[in-house]
Amino acid sequence: MQEHGSGNLVGTLVDNRYQVKSRLARGGMSTVYVATDQRLERDVALKVLHPHFVSDDTFLDRLAREAKAAAKLSHPHVVGVLDQGTDGQIAYLVMEYIKGHTLRDVLNEKGALSPRLALALIDPVAEGLAAAHSAGLIHRDIKPENVLIANDGRIKVGDFGLARAVTTSTSTGTLIGTVAYLSPELVLGKPADARSDIYSVGIMLYEMLTGRQPFEGDVPIQVAYQHVHGTVEAPSAQVPGLASEVDELVQWCTAGDPENRPVDGNALLSELRHIRTNLSDAELDLQPPAARKDNAAASGVKEPGARQEATEVVIGAAEPTEIIARANNPTTVLPANIAPAALQASRPVGLPQDPELPLRPLGKREQRKLERDDERARNRAAATPVRSLREGDPRRRGALWIVVLVIAAVLATGAGWFFGMGPGSPGTIPDVANKTVAEAQQLLGTAGFQSNTKDVFDDDVPSGLVVGSDPEAGREIRKFQPVALFVSKGPQLFPLPEMTGKSLDQAKSTLNEAEMALGPVTEKFDETAPVGTVLAQDPAPGTAVKRGTPVSLTVSKGPQPIPVPDVRGKSQDEAVKTLEAAGLKAVIATETVNDKNVPKGAVAAQAPASGTLTKGQPVTLTVSKGPKLVEVPSFIGKQADDARKALEKLGFQVRVNNILGGFFGTVRDQDPVETEVPEGSVVTLTVV
Ligand code: ADP
Ligand code: MG
Repeated sequence: MQEHGSGNLVGTLVDNRYQVKSRLARGGMSTVYVATDQRLERDVALKVLHPHFVSDDTFLDRLAREAKAAAKLSHPHVVGVLDQGTDGQIAYLVMEYIKGHTLRDVLNEKGALSPRLALALIDPVAEGLAAAHSAGLIHRDIKPENVLIANDGRIKVGDFGLARAVTTSTSTGTLIGTVAYLSPELVLGKPADARSDIYSVGIMLYEMLTGRQPFEGDVPIQVAYQHVHGTVEAPSAQVPGLASEVDELVQWCTAGDPENRPVDGNALLSELRHIRTNLSDAELDLQPPAARKDNAAASGVKEPGARQEATEVVIGAAEPTEIIARANNPTTVLPANIAPAALQASRPVGLPQDPELPLRPLGKREQRKLERDDERARNRAAATPVRSLREGDPRRRGALWIVVLVIAAVLATGAGWFFGMGPGSPGTIPDVANKTVAEAQQLLGTAGFQSNTKDVFDDDVPSGLVVGSDPEAGREIRKFQPVALFVSKGPQLFPLPEMTGKSLDQAKSTLNEAEMALGPVTEKFDETAPVGTVLAQDPAPGTAVKRGTPVSLTVSKGPQPIPVPDVRGKSQDEAVKTLEAAGLKAVIATETVNDKNVPKGAVAAQAPASGTLTKGQPVTLTVSKGPKLVEVPSFIGKQADDARKALEKLGFQVRVNNILGGFFGTVRDQDPVETEVPEGSVVTLTVV
């Protein structure tokens, strides 16, 4: 059906309904396409889980959860989910298609935004979240990539793939999210609630105002560490002159303790709107220094005019379908129990940020060292009163920087080794497809990678051989990143449905539904099954076969025709035997007939006498009682000529035997005479 890994569905019809037109975005777990819903004749966005995740319940759950979460919500600022299903190896989600950009595209092109634009864009996000929070859902992955901006200005929150009901969120399970926007409580594996989303919104707002994220680091662990131990700086530090209300909003949302944040989207929304109406035009239109105005035209994002509303943000006609970018901020997954250890790690600096680097567990020694560091940090934190923005103490800030620099210097010593030749050095994943697991592991090991195996069904690669890897061959990653080897367990087998007894058309659609192929169809006479009924199938029902297996069918062409044998003239017994041997039924008519050509007891007539019948059908036989008997009158003493005429008139054949030349012409003798004989018999006249 489609290839592994990078399967591209463009041009295919999914689930007999969605004609895939083009690819919008490709992420780690799924690809999003524009497709036409052929039933409703409209464009939709089709999110398809990568094939090798389809056998993994975690990812199927994620997709199902997204469908359910969004189904609970119907809100103008939440991307609507229309349908969800599977088609063979494809698991998909159908959404309303938001033709346009993501907030990430806008930030990439514009850098920092004016407070007016930033607040206008955050407003619908807060409103969408408020709706989700009111419905008892938390989003858990708020980031610019998941904010969709339609060309007509509609703004919607998408990707409810990590959403959860507030009540079910616990501290166990898996830490997921995007490290740049992850709240401290999520990093620590504590229960999250609506305020975790608020935190992410705060980080996003900071980024919109300043053009950069508040916490940056070379590896995600550094960023996670700062979420827990750092404080988001006031955006005015980057954008001088920014209104203090905006600073406060960002810091309120990003407070380390959830207790100190707006309780949910509704609380955020009312404060946001209050600020938007109370700032002066000059404050709203403050141009951030980082704003790249030259790019603004290219992005098509126009600064809204002085009193414009959020929904009037106009996004230009750049075709989003052509933007196929890897996410800047991939969603990271790791077991929650390693999170607290992980966040204590500070990795050396030196290389540009690789957004694909996952968090990873630390070694025991590393962990103990970092625990000590952390304890010290905590003691320091306890001794440091919580700093409020407006009353910044430059001296204390200076001291903090010295501490940070010292830690950085110590760690930097190890950086060269770590990234140069250690586990942090990059390597290219070799092509391991169709190799044995041992060969593949050896190839990967030689290239410096650790691998783990995962069994997947595959129709083409023989069982036991490697189908592919994640990341794919040719990708460059850091050597400490694990590589998953997908090992074929052969094709996935499905039991064949029963097709016998169905009509050929029904059987064809059953095969179609089961994704099996129609093999050769042979026709066969059958005395009982109506024409077109499936009599037999090969392989038999219930046989486990892989998808697309051709199934041959034997179909009835009705009962076999039997040519009616001609039994006229045969004796009754012989006639009955002949008909029965041919499979027909002989019926003897009660009436018999005289027939001068057919001897008594033989068949004089049959119905039908020709053509075809089918098994068991009747042929009626009429039996002859021989020729009719006629009385021969005596013509002795009569004139021979008169006698002949009279006898011929009665149907006899007349033979004349002249004696003495028949001189007198008188019948002297007659044989037979005055008796009954079969009609047409010969009567001999002796004439003198
Ligand atoms: P993932 O779980 O892989 O992050 P998302 O739902 O966030 O999936 O979709 C990934 C990208 O696909 C988005 O950042 C956006 O560019 C695009 N996209 C997703 N949904 C839609 C949609 N409904 N309309 C248009 N583009 C979309
Ligand atoms: Mg996303």
